[in-house]
Amino acid sequence: MKVAYAGLLAIAVSGCSLLGSDDKGTLSENPASDDMAASVPRGDQPQDCPAQGAALQVLGSGGPIAEAARAGTSYLLWIDGEPRLLIDAGAGSFLRFAQAGGKVASLDAILLTHLHADHAGDVSGILNTGGFEGRGEPLPVIGPDAAPRFPGTGEFLARLVSKDGGAFAYNGGYLDGRENKPLLEPRDIVTEEGAGAPAGLDVSNQYSVMAHPVHHGPVPALGYSIEIEGKTIVITGDQSALSERFASDLAGSKPAILFAHHVINGESGQPRGLHRTPAQIGELASALQPERLVLTHNMERSLDPIEASLSAIGQSYGGDVSAAFDLDCYAL
Ligand SMILES: [Zn+2]
Repeated sequence: MKVAYAGLLAIAVSGCSLLGSDDKGTLSENPASDDMAASVPRGDQPQDCPAQGAALQVLGSGGPIAEAARAGTSYLLWIDGEPRLLIDAGAGSFLRFAQAGGKVASLDAILLTHLHADHAGDVSGILNTGGFEGRGEPLPVIGPDAAPRFPGTGEFLARLVSKDGGAFAYNGGYLDGRENKPLLEPRDIVTEEGAGAPAGLDVSNQYSVMAHPVHHGPVPALGYSIEIEGKTIVITGDQSALSERFASDLAGSKPAILFAHHVINGESGQPRGLHRTPAQIGELASALQPERLVLTHNMERSLDPIEASLSAIGQSYGGDVSAAFDLDCYAL
């Protein structure tokens, strides 16, 4: 396995994580581990995405537990220096969106993998800032359908901003396109408990996007694949190994980058019905054959035993593996 990885990895001193990485995000020992200033993860040091071509920036590389310098899950697709697609808006991504230079006005759509707070908690804040940009065109917001305890994407937006009882009813213009707000165009993708058919999303004529239903316990959930100029990015979303159709539909697709949500370690007591273990991430990577595997949705519980995780992944996948920090940018 081509992991340039020096054996560390997470040392905690006074509550600060000393996990470091090189410019590619490859896991490595932090050379300045005795310097608390240098121990701040790279999330507070935005990487610029290239002015030409396509790139995916990880806005939030963390999960539901508030941990140092990691916002909840979020990605921003850049094409020729323009922010074009926001995928998830977990808690904390509002700030990362601003640090990255994101603008709602230039988005083709907002995609949501599922409606957990670590993936959708900052939707209202990001919409709110967009209301100050003067965007005139409608804005598609695409995500999963409903299930018990989870509204569908359209209902989720209505509960946020409906003039008739929404939590932020003063922003109700998003649902009728009035009051200088862009009209939201919600779309619920049928998930069928992770077994539904992939759905093509018509959000741009410059790239294509597919929404893939995945299994995430009782939570309606999606992964996404994005193809731009013959190269593909795959985002697993939160998914368990029961996401068999996702794996089979994308098998052998050789994406340029597979972003896998690295939520749990391989030890017992972890919520395996919701997430892939590191070994199961390795099996997925083995099936898809990406040029590069990037672990994100990282948490202390998944990073602390990182040597074990990398070893488990390496049982099935021999390619390049790295771990993302907030604001890391991956050019295609
Ligand atoms: Zn999550």
